[in-house]
Amino acid sequence: MQAAGRFVVLGALLALTAQASAQSALPLKHAPARTQTAITPADLMTRLYLYSDDSMMGRLAGSEYNLKATAYIASEVKRFGLQPAGDSGGYFQNVPLVKRGLDPNAVLSVEGASLQPWTDFVPRDPGRATRAFDGAPVVYAGVWSDSTMISAEQAAGKFIVLGAHTGPNVPPPQQVNRGAILSRYRTAAGIAVAALETFPPQVINFFRQPQTLLRDGPSDTTSLPGYVYVNAAGARLLLGAPLDSVRAGAVGKTVHGSVAFVDTPAPARNVVAILPGSDPKLKGEYVAIGAHNDHIGFDQDAVDHDSLRGFNDAVRKLQLAAPNHQVAPDQVQQIHINVDSLHRLHPARRDSIYNGADDDGSGTSAVLEIAQAFAGAKVKPKRSLIFVWHTGEELGLFGSQYFTDHPTVTRDSIVAQLNMDMVGRGRADDENGGGPGYLQLIGTRRLSTELGDLIEAVNKARKQPFAFDYQFDATGHPEQYYCRSDHYMYARYGIPIAFFTTGNHRDYHQVTDEPEYIDYDKLAHVSQFVHDIATAVANLDHRVVVDKPKPDPHGNCVQ
Ligand SMILES: [Zn+2]
Repeated sequence: MQAAGRFVVLGALLALTAQASAQSALPLKHAPARTQTAITPADLMTRLYLYSDDSMMGRLAGSEYNLKATAYIASEVKRFGLQPAGDSGGYFQNVPLVKRGLDPNAVLSVEGASLQPWTDFVPRDPGRATRAFDGAPVVYAGVWSDSTMISAEQAAGKFIVLGAHTGPNVPPPQQVNRGAILSRYRTAAGIAVAALETFPPQVINFFRQPQTLLRDGPSDTTSLPGYVYVNAAGARLLLGAPLDSVRAGAVGKTVHGSVAFVDTPAPARNVVAILPGSDPKLKGEYVAIGAHNDHIGFDQDAVDHDSLRGFNDAVRKLQLAAPNHQVAPDQVQQIHINVDSLHRLHPARRDSIYNGADDDGSGTSAVLEIAQAFAGAKVKPKRSLIFVWHTGEELGLFGSQYFTDHPTVTRDSIVAQLNMDMVGRGRADDENGGGPGYLQLIGTRRLSTELGDLIEAVNKARKQPFAFDYQFDATGHPEQYYCRSDHYMYARYGIPIAFFTTGNHRDYHQVTDEPEYIDYDKLAHVSQFVHDIATAVANLDHRVVVDKPKPDPHGNCVQ
């Protein structure tokens, strides 16, 4: 599942004393065994220990490890005998991601004195071409939101320095607002906001990481002013005088250099395979079954597994006890974990790889297991099945966006999409009401009441029916699960979807999301359930009826 905000909460708050939780009974490594046609916990264990092994290095889209992970999926579907349905007769659909980073030659200089990026100034990516400002005069534009600010016309073609109100008691409109500043001074050559002192190092580090983006279609060539943050010394160099000694409109020095951003192609691919339907009239229609093949890679620094997990375990306990899972920062501050007691039982394990066993190794393995079951069955469903393992979900649902914008079968021939993301957890210590039958359903009636009803009917026919938790499907739910995984990219085109997940947990987007914490019986039950739903949808004598309004495919997702 995609992270909710742009800033990941830093797991640096590890205070250590008190007893940590019990360890899992499952091993750290598992020897792969031959998989069989039937959906079994043992097959899923084989697949998931392989797929979330350290050698996969966190499967980040845009990295070679995403190629390695998708190579495993493709080799499996080839072995099952499924038809390739990617680009040019293969199983892969390449997705045009780029890594966008600061040009290594970026520099600002004034009269021979140079400011270096990330230390003396911090550039921000405007998302498209950056206007050239070399040789532009520097002008002091005043303090942002003050009435004495210079006009847009006065700033045209100039490199402006902007003062900023900062601090905890400043109302939001008066604070540095990049969108508003760029929109007012759109015709400036460049913009330097003198507010760098207020940025914590982790924010600067975050800006410094190249961003991976989907580059689909012609890019917007209209340029925007280069946008940087400088400190008081930088502002003084640009203006030739201290910031607080000059008036809005004062002309400073001449600036040289550039802060362009450059795109480098980054490898990423969907895996797409088809099981042809058995009914000559219906085989031209598809039930899509999907998961995401990527995760979030690895860190440069390792953390202690037990400390991190003990801490996150304590946070999760507080969340489960609180209404809406909201925990106050002072409660978190009071958590103490005794890691020494654990390390008397086994040596410390330092880890830097986000294995993503549940996210979404679980869904990926489940789709493989379902594909193998259908491929090996004597009787095939009437409609065809299309299996898609999407890339770049974690970075912004890129693979599913690309697949649904450029589907390799007619878009209208896809009658429904069943998405699994994080389907291997949901125990009592993961979720309120958690247990063997716990499953969250999202979006099942948002386009088609019939699909939601059909899923309920398939469930009732099970020996041990699931107990569905629909709370995260609520309109406006703050967790936004409906908008945070691949199914939404299908739903935006009016394709009925069902999103299956066993929910959030203490190892979500942590290096501790490891295969030894997965509930393989649960994973097998979810896989079999989605298999049976796919069969029911594929064998209906009509397409599941869309009786709800379709969203705008290019609008924003609304939970
Ligand atoms: Zn995720």
